[in-house]
Amino acid sequence: MRIHLPDYVLEAIRRLENRGHEAYVVGGCVRDSLLGRKALDFDLATSALPEMTREAFAGYPTIDTGIKHGTLTVLIDHHPLEITTYRTDGTYSDARHPDQVTFVRSIREDLARRDFTCNAMAYHPDTGLYDPFSGQKDLKNKLLRAVGTPEKRFREDALRILRGLRFSGQLGFDIEPLTLKAMVSIKGRLNLVAVERIAKEVNLLLLGDYADQALRKAPEILLCVLPELAESGSWQTGLDLFSHLKKDLPQRWAALFLEPGADAAQAALNRIKQPRALCEESVLLLNHLGDDIETGNLRLLISRLGYQTAQKLLQLTRAVFLLKGQADKASGMERLEKELTCLREEGIDLSLKGLSVTGRDLLDLGYPEGEQLGQALSRLLELALTGQIPNQREDLLKKAALWLKNN
Ligand code: ATP
Ligand code: MG
Repeated sequence: MRIHLPDYVLEAIRRLENRGHEAYVVGGCVRDSLLGRKALDFDLATSALPEMTREAFAGYPTIDTGIKHGTLTVLIDHHPLEITTYRTDGTYSDARHPDQVTFVRSIREDLARRDFTCNAMAYHPDTGLYDPFSGQKDLKNKLLRAVGTPEKRFREDALRILRGLRFSGQLGFDIEPLTLKAMVSIKGRLNLVAVERIAKEVNLLLLGDYADQALRKAPEILLCVLPELAESGSWQTGLDLFSHLKKDLPQRWAALFLEPGADAAQAALNRIKQPRALCEESVLLLNHLGDDIETGNLRLLISRLGYQTAQKLLQLTRAVFLLKGQADKASGMERLEKELTCLREEGIDLSLKGLSVTGRDLLDLGYPEGEQLGQALSRLLELALTGQIPNQREDLLKKAALWLKNN
């Protein structure tokens, strides 16, 4: 079993070994390489203590954000490489952070502290795979299995429960029955985990190719971290939309909250401190889901939501129609998506800037400066975008003059 390692990784291993240390590639990159997926980044585990690692890479730029836990990030040929001293995590009295990490002597002990067997393999370019917990077998069977006693491992660090669901959603793996049973029974301890860490895992999970399937395996776990979903007893209906959607976070959040609705989504997203842009777009999508969209008001919709969000709304709306078995309406949405793409390519400006009159023109007509003028411009834009009057200077000015007269 050979894994192709980039030169900068090989260089780092040799550099440590030349100083008498051991070094292996470990964790997610070994898993992903064996699965034939592109490894995102490579991590090394080494017998060298952090200071020795630093010495081995003297002259290289380093970042020691994780130094407390034994991790030094070294930049080699502009590639960041995380190098972590063999360690165990000790006890977790708060289910969040190990009270202290202990450096250990062997790669085996280091692998034993890792969460799932498929994440607990090491690889060396000369000696090949080191797999003391049969991760490769579980990988072949597409199975997530906790390393060691599941209850103990999830009790130590409850985030692992959500990681399990996340990996299942990304990789399409089943969860070994005893592992799943422990995840469900210890889920309450997720309340002890920082919301930022929860948010990160939920986002990765929602974007997974198999997110809907993973969430159906243990919906109670998601409910535990997002109690706002319980606003609707049938929240799982939203999961049926996933297979029709792009891998887009606001769309997936909106789909998840299809039944509980915009207020529940807003409360959840804010509580777990998601970025504002994500909260706003997800809520906007939910607020407009159910709008009666047709060619006549497409431009207006784009002008209000912007091209990107409007397109996401069309896709989401189409998915809802498919879910309801309304194939005609779904293909109607598809046509609108094409219209939107054309408009976008034509580069038509659907904002006030694209309107054939300006505020200056209305002032000249006799409008006083202020709210009334702003409202008149918005109404003109709306009429022009919905085709009720042509976007021509003469027509627009006539309308504006009429309003002024009647006011
Ligand atoms: P990804 O591809 O998403 O980065 P990954 O498996 O590399 O997945 P990381 O969070 O980068 O995940 O962690 C790297 C490795 O560290 C994991 O493969 C696992 O061995 C170990 N690990 C990470 N978090 C935990 C944890 N909470 N408990 C136990 N081991 C963990
Ligand atoms: Mg990783």
